[in-house]
Amino acid sequence: MTRRTIIAGNWKMNTRADGAAELAKAVADAAGQTPAVEVAVCPPSVYLSRVGEVLAGSNVGLGAQNLYAAEDGAYTGEVNAAMLSDVGCRYVILGHSERRALLGETDQQVSEKLAAALAGNLVPIVCVGETLEDREANRTEAVVETQIRGSLAGLDETRAAGVVVAYEPVWAIGTGKTATPEQAEEVHAFIRKLLAELFTAEIADQIRIQYGGSVKPGNANELLGQPNIDGALVGGASLKADDFQAIIKAG
Ligand code: PGA
Repeated sequence: MTRRTIIAGNWKMNTRADGAAELAKAVADAAGQTPAVEVAVCPPSVYLSRVGEVLAGSNVGLGAQNLYAAEDGAYTGEVNAAMLSDVGCRYVILGHSERRALLGETDQQVSEKLAAALAGNLVPIVCVGETLEDREANRTEAVVETQIRGSLAGLDETRAAGVVVAYEPVWAIGTGKTATPEQAEEVHAFIRKLLAELFTAEIADQIRIQYGGSVKPGNANELLGQPNIDGALVGGASLKADDFQAIIKAG
């Protein structure tokens, strides 16, 4: 099974409108030269429309960093899947560790958001990953398993192949410490085995599993060369046009 590599930039709470537009243009240029790679950028929600205009006609998909529900309602401050689709989003990141840690987002909430994303025809990028404390206590697989089972709870088998999973060890996010390709591959293989148990081996074979956590031009090749690493979710390096372009080329 050949899975199409997917490289996504998670801009987090960074950029301003003009800089976001400029960065998106640079990404569109790079992605135009590497059509085999699926590329997405996920700007802050206030800049989605502006970035979407820049990306129109390119092969870069627009993604959001979160959503609340599927449809409209009295939820002050939130945005829903229908709104994200309306401004041209194709992807949405769900359950990022920063949201889990800082805002207390639970697996149950992530699973509800996953259902909302699919109802809105968005491609969900579901994030999981252990903390340093978990890893040092040999709890990596147990933690990742709980997160996968909980976050994907209720996911209809017919939709599962279209979901993207991002394995992001918390200790590697924004720290400059990357998991070694072997460490990452080990967890990716574990996740794929678990997905085969939850769904079928064929479906598990189709689900793309991205690695995230200090991905840079210098380590992208080796990480993406692992059999079960099907892409990257890139934070810091996605804010630098040259770095992100280099990572796309490695894809
Ligand atoms: P990083 O972030 O590349 O800056 O480590 C990755 C992420 O949080 O998605």
